[in-house]
Amino acid sequence: MKVLVCNAGSTSLKFKLYDMPESELLATGKVERVGSPDDAIFGYENCLIGYRVEEGGQNIPDYRTGIQRFLLCLTSGEGRVLDEIGEIERVGYKSVLSKDHYGIHEIDEGVLQGMRDFLPLAPVHNSAYLGAIETMRQALPDARHVGVFETAFHKDIPLERRIYGVPWEWHEMYGVQRMGYHGASHGYIADVLNGEKREYAAISCHLGGSASVCAILNGKSVDTSFGMSLETGLIHANRVGDMDPTMIHFLKEVGLSEQAILDGCQKKGGLLGISGVSNDLRYVQEAAEAGNERAKLAIDVFVSGIVHYIGAFYLDLGRLDDLIFTAGIGEHSALIRRLVCDRLGPIGVKLDAKKNETCHGAGVISAVDSAVKVRVIPANEELGIARRAFELA
Ligand code: ADP
Repeated sequence: MKVLVCNAGSTSLKFKLYDMPESELLATGKVERVGSPDDAIFGYENCLIGYRVEEGGQNIPDYRTGIQRFLLCLTSGEGRVLDEIGEIERVGYKSVLSKDHYGIHEIDEGVLQGMRDFLPLAPVHNSAYLGAIETMRQALPDARHVGVFETAFHKDIPLERRIYGVPWEWHEMYGVQRMGYHGASHGYIADVLNGEKREYAAISCHLGGSASVCAILNGKSVDTSFGMSLETGLIHANRVGDMDPTMIHFLKEVGLSEQAILDGCQKKGGLLGISGVSNDLRYVQEAAEAGNERAKLAIDVFVSGIVHYIGAFYLDLGRLDDLIFTAGIGEHSALIRRLVCDRLGPIGVKLDAKKNETCHGAGVISAVDSAVKVRVIPANEELGIARRAFELA
């Protein structure tokens, strides 16, 4: 069965076409800088024959144009992989959240309405997916369209770890509760560990532009650092992470507009806000090495947050067998992995410094006598989505 995975970001689109259940990757596509006139990047690859194009300076004014261009590549030109577009039987979306739909759901009007209801919680992402889904449904009317919500992997987290101390009717009427995100990424890590056929307690650290820590017990998420919105938990590249809600009221009182506060929390916070250097950890690391004190502080805050959640989740789980680093920072920053692991001695983590420095791609980076196996597992969220979309009865 041909399953297409669609990942819609704030200004980007990524696609992967799989043949399931073999998980064979047939084609990939990407559009970057959607909406910027004549400056978009379009990329396409037929993975079977290695045919590849990448073109900058493209006019891709909206998601519809980007999607149509990718679909056309699948069935025409040198890189075609399908005879006709109707061969795609399922489309899986790495969608973020929909009110009252926290798992994996075939897209219908109720799911779309739930996404609209929660637009204030994920304005950029939910509007990107609402647009992408509409275009895809028109282009592929006979396929089943499946929302693999980022909340899905966390839907069984026990209630005592989901409920905020708010008036009960806020929970009942408005759905206020912790939800958790990065479900496709942590779920993929669980898939890898499940494949090893043993009982396990693991902590997965997805450290990318967004960052979260997740406690996994035998394949199930039992806790995560994200709360109800994406502006929670660890500090992110430019989002705030956990913050005191009264601060918003205070900032209004001292004269900031609501928009300025939102921008501060969603665009100008996190690594960027603290360091004043960049939202890209590579530049923050460089600045820290050159002696920039705020860049050093940003790294310390980031690491300290990760250690804080790992410590808490260790007690939630009652033990720890595997500690996983994944996503851009988790896979590539030996420094962050070292700084985190150096503080985890009390729970049995012992890093092998050389393995950590030389790890490229997947690998074990703990010492042979470490009680916890520390591993780098490259993120593969799209495969996780393809599997979930394929499995849906
Ligand atoms: P997203 O969450 O946007 O999908 P990624 O998982 O691709 O992001 O991670 C992006 C982050 O990874 C950026 O902050 C970038 O600085 C960081 N990163 C990528 N390569 C390295 C590296 N070699 N060293 C440190 N950080 C890196």
